[in-house]
Amino acid sequence: MGVAGKGADLRRPDDARRRDLDAERDATVARVADLHAEVTGIVESCVDAGTDDEHDPEGATVAFERQRAADLLGTARRHLAELDAARHRLSAGSYGTCELCGGRIADERLEALPAATRCVACATTLG
Ligand SMILES: [Zn+2]
Repeated sequence: MGVAGKGADLRRPDDARRRDLDAERDATVARVADLHAEVTGIVESCVDAGTDDEHDPEGATVAFERQRAADLLGTARRHLAELDAARHRLSAGSYGTCELCGGRIADERLEALPAATRCVACATTLG
């Protein structure tokens, strides 16, 4: 009783979507902060290396770790921008519409990827 069923046209309400986006955004903001601290920490550990009585034989590894963290930071920042764009689309009423074919993006996909801009078919076809 009172259960609407799982019809294909049953869409999640916008406030539920907004909560998803906000939760994902909060997590991403925290991730950006963590990665930023990590990159900064790696840089500082390089600067401080001279005070270490233990020589670091793996300067190349430090450079590699720093690059890896910087790459992750860049990815997290792009994701944050995507989430902000998704929030704007939600306000504009175009959220959940595929940017390529104009079709609906499945709720399951939006729940997994709140910032998704393409439906599964378009994302699969174009990678
Ligand atoms: Zn599509």
